Amino acid sequence: MTQKIEVDFGLCESNAVCMGIIPEVFQVDDDDYLHVLQDEVTAENEAQIREAVRQCPRQAISIVDE
Ligand code: SF4
Repeated sequence: MTQKIEVDFGLCESNAVCMGIIPEVFQVDDDDYLHVLQDEVTAENEAQIREAVRQCPRQAISIVDE
């Protein structure tokens, strides 16, 4: 089963907390827009992604089963 990152852009306030945890996955650009660079949760990135889910002050990130 594949797990993917989902961001509620209506909640996200582009404060880059997630980027501070795992910049390979989350990137806030110069226009304050968040990009998910790769949305697949893997064995290598799962711990950091879950940390980003926990620390997002807007609770905008979730992990969904595909
Ligand atoms: S930590 Fe949450 S609110 Fe901040 S940029 Fe990431 S998704 Fe958006």
